[in-house]
Amino acid sequence: MANILEVKNLFKVYNVKSENVVVLRNINLEMQDGEFLILFGPSGCGKSTLLNTILGLETISSGSVNLLGKQISNLSQDQLADIRKNNVGIVYQQPNWVKSLNVLENVAFPLLIKGIKRDVALKKAKEKLALVEMTNWTEYYPVDLSSGQQQKVALARALINEPKVLIADEPTGNLDYKSSNSLMGIFRDLSNQGISILLVTHNLVNLDYADRVARMFDGQIVEYIDAKKISEKKLDEMLHPTDVTNSTSYKLSFN
Ligand code: ADP
Ligand code: MG
Repeated sequence: MANILEVKNLFKVYNVKSENVVVLRNINLEMQDGEFLILFGPSGCGKSTLLNTILGLETISSGSVNLLGKQISNLSQDQLADIRKNNVGIVYQQPNWVKSLNVLENVAFPLLIKGIKRDVALKKAKEKLALVEMTNWTEYYPVDLSSGQQQKVALARALINEPKVLIADEPTGNLDYKSSNSLMGIFRDLSNQGISILLVTHNLVNLDYADRVARMFDGQIVEYIDAKKISEKKLDEMLHPTDVTNSTSYKLSFN
């Protein structure tokens, strides 16, 4: 399989008060095995919706999504849940913790609920915590850690099933500049170790950690950028997007 992900001519339309709102318009996106791709764009441009359609958490209106060689729209809810649980690591802006468990147990939790033996699960959790430089915090409770530390632990938990691909929705959204860079550095290291990463951000300082950036605006991918070749001028352009898209024509075609 050449590509981890293939999104073709994807549209997502929400019906709000009997009016169709086109949230994703003709998205075409391919991710190669091992690639670190950032989806960048302003709040409300459709980034989370795109991730959710890729993960099968939202239905698609038309087009197709192929994730890890599987056509998402052909799968049952159970099969989708199985892929999310076993083949993909997911990190959100805000981690969810089992409050009664410490850091080590929270990271091991996905294995423990699968019935894997406790000592095996905890050993694996320790390995993952080492990858995110959180070895010294195993006995703490997640809520006693800083937001940046919690995101590292959340990343360790996302890695516990040895996923081929990590999907992260604004993982640095709540973090200060320093913690944000520290977390992005870990994503970069993981990428260098061969994990494929699809990461959403609206923060420009995150971009050069990736291989490639897909810039979104108003439900569309407006350009692909080599992350290593982003100039000051380009950054300024991206900060002040002037793309004009004609939403009316799309709206009509779905009415
Ligand atoms: P982003 O993650 O880039 O901030 P989202 O994907 O969350 O953007 O949202 C994109 C657009 O879709 C927004 O205009 C949002 O209001 C709209 N949207 C998201 N979910 C729904 C929904 N369930 N029903 C109607 N509109 C929605
Ligand atoms: Mg979002």
